[in-house]
Amino acid sequence: MSWERNIVIKTAEEIEIMRIAGRINAEALQTVKAMVRPGITTAALDAVAEEVIRSHGAIPAFKGYPGPYPYPATLTVSINDELVHGIPGTRILRPGDIVSIDCGTVYDGFVGDSAFSMVVEPASEEALRLLEVTENSLYVGIAKMKVGNRVGDVSAAVQKYVESHGYYVTREYTGHGVGRDMHEGPMVPNYGRDGHGLRLRAGMTIAIEPMVLIGTPKTRVLPDQWTVVSADGSLTAHFEHSVLVTDGEPEILTAW
Ligand code: MG
Ligand code: MG
Repeated sequence: MSWERNIVIKTAEEIEIMRIAGRINAEALQTVKAMVRPGITTAALDAVAEEVIRSHGAIPAFKGYPGPYPYPATLTVSINDELVHGIPGTRILRPGDIVSIDCGTVYDGFVGDSAFSMVVEPASEEALRLLEVTENSLYVGIAKMKVGNRVGDVSAAVQKYVESHGYYVTREYTGHGVGRDMHEGPMVPNYGRDGHGLRLRAGMTIAIEPMVLIGTPKTRVLPDQWTVVSADGSLTAHFEHSVLVTDGEPEILTAW
């Protein structure tokens, strides 16, 4: 991928802007999380997320994003077997659905990118366990985002954690640097080998995003050309934060 070579170390000033973008993005996600209930449409969530973002003078990062055709919405809302890139619309949330919501915000030219998954009550044991493992794997990866470690250390930590719980990480979609562009280098897969890949440096900003599947690592794309589903129809989950690598502990820019 061409964006992989575009690795940008951010200045203190740029990082401060990214903190603001991250906070706005977090507010949009928290607001829609509170709206999730049986009977609501995914388009209703999308409209509110856009309102929150624009109320801060920011812009939805996903809207118009280039792909098979420009992405049409503020959020991606992916349900059950839908792993990522589900397009909001007239679909109604039902009890027991796993809902994965991803949002990007551009503030003053910089992007915050973050996602979470939740289940519409009542939750099955299987869904709760999948969500717990996927969310934990995000923090296992973030803990490795320290100066001197390599991208492979982050990737391997996520993969080992997920696979040790009997689940799979996707091979076809990855985390990424984030900044002026939503997708910058380095590419940060959810699988990899310790001690391999680019060395992390202070000032790198990376969106790390474990995408986890119960059945197999394989995915396919629906005829809408955006929605990615598990190839076997099994449940999936997705958590993401934009994270700053520092000389000390990693800083989550999109924290709630
Ligand atoms: Mg995202
Ligand atoms: Mg991302």
